[in-house]
Amino acid sequence: MDYEHLIRQCALRNITLEILPTASDAKARVMALIADRQTVSTGGSTTLHQWGIVEALRQRNITFYDRFVPGLAGEALLAVFRQALTADVYVSGINAITADGDLMVIDKVGNRAAALMFGPKKVIVVAGKNKLVKDIESGRHRIKTVACPQNARRLGLSTPCAVTGDCAECRSPQRMCYDEIVIRGQSDPSRMTVLLVEEDGGF
Ligand code: SF4
Repeated sequence: MDYEHLIRQCALRNITLEILPTASDAKARVMALIADRQTVSTGGSTTLHQWGIVEALRQRNITFYDRFVPGLAGEALLAVFRQALTADVYVSGINAITADGDLMVIDKVGNRAAALMFGPKKVIVVAGKNKLVKDIESGRHRIKTVACPQNARRLGLSTPCAVTGDCAECRSPQRMCYDEIVIRGQSDPSRMTVLLVEEDGGF
C-alpha cells in the first residue's frame, strides 16, 4: 500500500489519516486526542478491545457512554447508542479502507454507521493494516468473507456466512450487515481522524 497516496487522498476527502507503527501508539494517540471532561463513546469493535482502548477510556477523567458494560442490553443499550450520537468524541473501528481513502463499514443496528456519518463532534477511527483493500469491490469482498463470518462466529450467530465463510445475502434475523455504508469524506475537515496501524487488529 502506498501510504503517501492514501494520506493525500484522505486529505482531499477532509479526513486526517495518520500512520502509526503499533497498537500501543494508537492507544496513546486516541488518548491524546481526547480532552479531560469530554463526553466520549465508541462503536462496537474488536480492535478497540484488543488494543486496550476501551479499558483506557474507562480510566480517563471523561464522561464515558460505555456500551460494553456487562449485562447492558435492550432499551438500556439503545439509550447508550442514542447518547453516543451526542458525544464530543466517538471512537470506532472500521471494516475496510480503500487505497483511495473510502471508509467502509457494516452495521446491524445502525448506531455505529450513524455516528460515523453524523452526531458526534469528532470521530477517531482506528484500523489495523488488515483493513486495507484495493477498492470498493475488494472491500465488499473482505466484509462478506472475512469481517462478517469471523464476527458471526465470535458472537455465536447462525448466519450462513458463519457456517460457510461466504455471504448468502441472507434474510436471517441475526443478520449483522443490515447497513453497508461507504464514507467518501467529511464536510467538516476537523471532524474525522483515522489512525492506521502497521499491525493487524480486529476483523
Ligand atoms: S447477508 Fe447474511 S450471510 Fe451475508 S454477510 Fe450478512 S449476515 Fe452474513
